[in-house]
Amino acid sequence: MDKNANQSIGCTVYSCENHCQSKNYCSLDKISVGTHETNPTEVKCTDCESFKLKD
Ligand code: SF4
Repeated sequence: MDKNANQSIGCTVYSCENHCQSKNYCSLDKISVGTHETNPTEVKCTDCESFKLKD
């Protein structure tokens, strides 16, 4: 089922429960971004901490 697309948060992670599915957007009003590194230096060092695996 498609969810509301928040056009301020682009995302291509379709396996996430919070993805709007029909377009490349998140459906949440707000997300939290963080890092798993001590000193993040690249895009891959960052994480969407609002990710939730779709059932
Ligand atoms: S919660 Fe994060 S990973 Fe999930 S759809 Fe939203 S932006 Fe993408």
